[in-house]
This record gives sequence, C-alpha cells and structure tokens, in this order.
Amino acid sequence: MSNMIHLTIDGGPVASAGPMSILQAATRGGRALTANVGCFGQGVCGACRCMVRREGEREVSTVLACETPAENGMQVSFIDYFTPDRPHRYDVSEIRDSWRFADAVQEIFPEAAHCRHCGGCDRACPKGLDVQRGVALAVDGDFAGAGDIFDQCVMCNLCTLACPERIWPNHLGLMVRRVTTALTLRPVDLMRRLGEIERGEVTIDLAGPDRLQAPTTARQEG
Ligand code: SF4
Ligand code: SF4
Repeated sequence: MSNMIHLTIDGGPVASAGPMSILQAATRGGRALTANVGCFGQGVCGACRCMVRREGEREVSTVLACETPAENGMQVSFIDYFTPDRPHRYDVSEIRDSWRFADAVQEIFPEAAHCRHCGGCDRACPKGLDVQRGVALAVDGDFAGAGDIFDQCVMCNLCTLACPERIWPNHLGLMVRRVTTALTLRPVDLMRRLGEIERGEVTIDLAGPDRLQAPTTARQEG
C-alpha cells in the first residue's frame, strides 16, 4: 500500500512519502523557505502558522505546520508575518507597582477591556492556551495568573488575527511576562555578588589588566 500523501499547499499540489509534518511536506514539495520558518520543527517560534482544511471538513483551523501531520486531501495556506499596526509602547522598569497593574493595562492596552468573550482567540491558538482568560486576568491586574497562561505562547499572532476587537492578546501577554519576570526573577549569583560588594567583602580592582595577566604567567611557570 502506497504511503504517498497528496495535499495542496498555497494552491500548489504536493506529493511526498509520509508520515511527515506539513512543514516537511512544504519543503519536499520544493517550497523555498524564505518565510514561515524559524525554529524548524521545535514548535517554539510560531513562524509556520497556517490555515488548514482537512478533507471532507468545512471548518478551517489554524495550526503550526511543524507540529501538524500532513494528511491526504489537506488544503494548507501559510500566513505571512505581520507587524502591529498600533505598537504598544511601554517601559517595563516603570511598571513596578503591583497594586496598579490593572491601571497599567488600561493605559497601555485600553482595548483589552473591550473583550467580547467571543472565544476566537482560544479557537485560533495552536498551543491550546486559554487566551481569553489570560486577557481577562491581565485586565484585572492578575499578572501571575495571566503570566502562567501566556507562558507557553510562541507569539504566532494567530490570536491577534482572530480578535475582532484588535486586542493583540499575545502582545498583552508578552508585556505581562516581561513585567513579572523583571519584578520576580533575579540571577542568584548576581544578587550574591552585589551583596558582597555592598558589605565591602569584594574589592573592585580597577587595575584589571594586571589581574588578567596573572593566570597566563602561572600557566607558563607550570
Ligand atoms: S496565545 Fe496567541 S500568539 Fe500565543 S501561541 Fe496562542 S495564538 Fe499564538
Ligand atoms: S478574540 Fe478578542 S474579543 Fe474574542 S475572546 Fe479573544 S480577546 Fe476577547
């Protein structure tokens, strides 16, 4: 029995021996990988977003091509990268008061409060994230909860494409992750060293070059 898989990618027929992912099918079909490819199969970059209609189905779903098996009769359209039409500008270092996280969201992402709970972002997300709830938690100022939801986000932008209120959920999630990381994660070694410096336990040797030469001398003597 033949294991050839026949599908259509961006309007062109592709046939290749399976099993394989949609992305592998695209490359075997001669598609030049000038776009829609980043981590190449790791499922972490979100670049290979595409729309898929399976044989016999009317519904179109959004998936990552590197994580989705190619199937006979499948129709695939890759979605180009796009940049925000309204960039959200903020300085992470200025969002420090956790009592006022909700105010920060209202100021920087005012459209997020207009979520109509249509669930479009949830259906679009190829990672199965609870995007709608993540937006709601961020609007409420619950950055810990929202950050947990968006932690697995690969910034494919499919939720943004799906959102009728143009909320850019993944960019809101990215801001939440940036703020919580800046406020909670600190490199342990750096914290320890700063403490040592403050307590005067470490002297800063401004004559750095001399010190750098010392190991070389030692090696030569050995
Ligand atoms: S939350 Fe949005 S950008 Fe992130 S993986 Fe899901 S659909 Fe893609
Ligand atoms: S697609 Fe937009 S409006 Fe709909 S639930 Fe998601 S964030 Fe809300």
